[in-house]
Amino acid sequence: MFPVLASEALLEVKDVKTYFYTTTGVVKAVDGVSFTLNKGEVLGIAGESGCGKSTLAYSIIRLVPPPGKIVSGEIYFEGRNVLKLSDESFRKEIRWKKISMVFQGAMNALNPVYTVGDQIAEVLILHKGLTKKEAYNKVYELLSLVGIDPKRAHSYPHELSGGMKQRVMIAMALALNPPLVIADEPTTALDVVVQAQIMNLLKKLQKELRMSIILITHDLSLIAEIADKVAILYAGKLVEYGTAKQIYYNPQHPYTKGLLASIPRLKGEITKLEWIPGVPPDLRFPPPGCRFEPRCKYRMPKCKEEPPIIEIEPGHYVACWLYAKK
Ligand code: SF4
Repeated sequence: MFPVLASEALLEVKDVKTYFYTTTGVVKAVDGVSFTLNKGEVLGIAGESGCGKSTLAYSIIRLVPPPGKIVSGEIYFEGRNVLKLSDESFRKEIRWKKISMVFQGAMNALNPVYTVGDQIAEVLILHKGLTKKEAYNKVYELLSLVGIDPKRAHSYPHELSGGMKQRVMIAMALALNPPLVIADEPTTALDVVVQAQIMNLLKKLQKELRMSIILITHDLSLIAEIADKVAILYAGKLVEYGTAKQIYYNPQHPYTKGLLASIPRLKGEITKLEWIPGVPPDLRFPPPGCRFEPRCKYRMPKCKEEPPIIEIEPGHYVACWLYAKK
């Protein structure tokens, strides 16, 4: 398990397993993931598509769609194991109030038949018991906060650009002032300029509101500037975890190295872009031992066994046999 530094912990995820029971087998989408998020910290979770990032996010906010199920593990939020709460209590006490989410693909997440103002106001009316007028006053504030003209509250989603819709999603996630926001691929389908604007907005809001953020992405370059800590997920398991500096300047796991080497560089010598050969495993039948083994150029016979988690420098952990003491 990855370590738990309990003092400032806002969220502690301990050995969480979330499986999907399909007709063709059990998909082990999240398979024993542990990490800690401290108050006011930004944690970037990165990995290729299909590695379990979104399932992990949905597990934390308890919205895993059927046939998925959290089969074991513990998730502590402000010291309470929220997996022990009833659905009703979680909905009333935690979701949106304490942990909110910016969903992937704002284009589909907003309801096309309501104005964006109505959709944000609904959260405030339901959870805070505000009147429609009071809720709308807050909606205008929230839209200004995310850089949208408050008059756009009366627009329907199709009247807004992709970037504006994503800002609306962020405004909705902030409506109840939660201490933790999970942003799942918040810039997917946006062009690079708008991507940069959304990332800057998240960074600014995180500082102003002193909230914690879990930012989930397949693009490691996207979280470089905003994340304090970075966790690398591969085939349902965390393979490396450390500060952003440790991960970007001293990556150790062969998968992390491969991900970083595949990011195009703007400066320096022009070199051939590297790539990771192969594809992630079918999570119904993951390889025994290290799940990266079939794609790893350093693999050895020992890698058929589950690798240990090793602290290679203070706070920097890697799950790989290369670093095990002989
Ligand atoms: Fe490669 Fe083995 Fe390390 Fe897995 S445990 S990443 S196969 S060296």
